[in-house]
Amino acid sequence: MTARFFSFGLTVLLVSWALKIPSVGDQPESPQPGKPAKIRNIVLMIGDGMGIAHLTLARLHKGRLAMEEAENFGLSATSSLNAFVTDSSASATALGTGYLIQNGVVGQHPNGKTVKTILEYAEEKGLWTGVVVTCRVTHATPASMATHVSSRGSEDDIALQLSQKDLEVIFGGGWDKFLPRRIESVRAGSGEASGARGIFTAVEPERQSDRTPSRGQLLEHPRPLIDAAGSPYGGRKDGKNLLKEMASRGYRSIRTAGELATITLGPPGKVIGLFHSEAMPPAREGRSPSLVAMTHSALSILSQSPQGFFLMVEGSQIDWGAHQNSADYAMTEAADFDDAVGEVFRFLKESRLLQETLVVITADHETGGLSINPHPQLAFGFEAKWTTKGHTGIPVPVFSAGPASDRFAGFQSHAEIGRKLIEGLLDRKLVWDYPGSKAASPATASSSTGK
Ligand SMILES: [Zn+2]
Repeated sequence: MTARFFSFGLTVLLVSWALKIPSVGDQPESPQPGKPAKIRNIVLMIGDGMGIAHLTLARLHKGRLAMEEAENFGLSATSSLNAFVTDSSASATALGTGYLIQNGVVGQHPNGKTVKTILEYAEEKGLWTGVVVTCRVTHATPASMATHVSSRGSEDDIALQLSQKDLEVIFGGGWDKFLPRRIESVRAGSGEASGARGIFTAVEPERQSDRTPSRGQLLEHPRPLIDAAGSPYGGRKDGKNLLKEMASRGYRSIRTAGELATITLGPPGKVIGLFHSEAMPPAREGRSPSLVAMTHSALSILSQSPQGFFLMVEGSQIDWGAHQNSADYAMTEAADFDDAVGEVFRFLKESRLLQETLVVITADHETGGLSINPHPQLAFGFEAKWTTKGHTGIPVPVFSAGPASDRFAGFQSHAEIGRKLIEGLLDRKLVWDYPGSKAASPATASSSTGK
């Protein structure tokens, strides 16, 4: 694409954005007047690290965003219980439980008591549930929807808890945490001094290290852990094969995009799809299956629930692109996440579920302190300016559509979003005291249904 063509396209984009040209056919159906909006299903979509500027990048990349179809817009403040700038586990816990907790913790108050997640409420109510991510399914955000550990790094424990939760759908990366270490038998004592000739000793072959890219690191995506015979292996030191245990409880386990396509067409049932031993590759490196395909498949399965469903979809790697201060990585991931948003709206419209499905699209925090500045000397006419390689404390966008979605307009905290989601799911008010604690906390001070 030439610079001239791009700058023309850019002008059109910016103008159409500024004018907010309506496209009526694209608007979600709104509930009939006078008819109370009942929430049957909830789709919570989290763009990890996705601030307003990341959306601006995505818009420069793909034009009008699917999230702009949402009827309501708001902002969310993201501070955790102990820090102005949150980490992903504290923030996802706020979104998933309605409680503020400390950075680095998953689903637990500082007094050690667990805080119930929306996914757990949904399971209790008989709904079908699912998580779809592009990181490891044991990473902070998905973990916070269904598990409780004092440190987000305890991913073996998170995998164990997740494997026992009875979610209908688990899609993402990370079989590493579900399978035991590979033990290779080698002939020991081949040296002449040894009397133990011919005895086999078990050793663990060297493993690739975990990859959540550290700040500023640019790595090639690791190869999945598969042995010479084509069998996947992992890194669990307790020797447990969680996928085998899950299979004995009725889970189908899949590993490829082809299997995902097949399972989508078949009868519904519990399925765990782990498509890489670590995180899935970035979208720009040809992630397969795509987030859109995983989201489509999850909705196809969950929408067959007689009682409704709860689904969390995360665009996990917007954050990683921003940690690397890579405009291209962050842009392609934000656009990819928006494609998944488009798939959710398309699917809900097509299956006539829009009127009974609450869709909330937000972020857990902003990453990178990103700004988009003019720069006529650069081919694209703008420059992505980063102010940090970490997270920031600025508010993040909240788009919402479907029944009671107007509650998510305006300014709120992420914990308030969690409370509104849970109260909407249960269709009743809850008392938001911290479990086992009488002391009023900052999060309990305000009414949860106000804006
Ligand atoms: Zn995050």
